[in-house]
Amino acid sequence: MRASATGRMLHDPKGGSFWFDAGAVCLDFAHTGGEGRYAVFETLHEPADLGEWLAEPPLAAVMTVPVTARELTAAKALRQAIWDAAHAQAARHPLPTGAVATINRAAAAPPLVPELVAAGTTAGWVRPVRATQALSTLAREMIELLSGPLSERIRECASDDCPLVFVDSSRPGARRWCAMERCGNRHKLRAHRARRTTEP
Ligand SMILES: [Zn+2]
Repeated sequence: MRASATGRMLHDPKGGSFWFDAGAVCLDFAHTGGEGRYAVFETLHEPADLGEWLAEPPLAAVMTVPVTARELTAAKALRQAIWDAAHAQAARHPLPTGAVATINRAAAAPPLVPELVAAGTTAGWVRPVRATQALSTLAREMIELLSGPLSERIRECASDDCPLVFVDSSRPGARRWCAMERCGNRHKLRAHRARRTTEP
C-alpha cells in the first residue's frame, strides 16, 4: 500500500519533540525506537503500544485481535531490519542478508486486506485485523520501496550527528534534512555564525 499522509511526532527523551516525515509508513515505523544506544527512544514497550501505533493514520489498522508479546518481538525485529536496510541503501551498500531475510519473512504472512466501507468512498481493513498482517503490509511496502525507483531517494539526514532516514518523494528530490525545524535550522544557524566570525 502507498500511504498518502506519512509522518509522526517524535519525542526526544531529553525533552522536546518534532514532526518527522520519513516518507513511507515502513520508514516511519523504523523510528519508533531501537536497540542498544537507540533503546532510550523506545516507544513500543507493551504489545498494546504497537496496537496504538498501527491504529494511527495513515495505516489506521485498528486491531480486532489484541497484539501478542510474540508479535511485539517480531515487530521489533522487523523494525531493526527496515532500519538496517534503509541505512545500507542510503550509503549505497549491499543490503545486510539478515535484514533481507527478516523483511521477507514478515512479508510472507498474509497482509492487511482492504475493503470499501460506507458508501464506497472510504477504505477500511477486513476483520479480523491482526498485528502480524500489519507487519506484513509494512514489510511489503519496504520491499516495494527498495526495489522501486524511489530506492535512489532513500537518504540519511545530512546533519553529521543525526541518523534519521527517509525517502525523498518530493518532485525536486532535494530534501536534505530529517526536519527543517530540527537539523535544517541548526545547520542554517551554524552557517550563519560561521559567516559572522569569518567576516571582517
Ligand atoms: Zn536530522
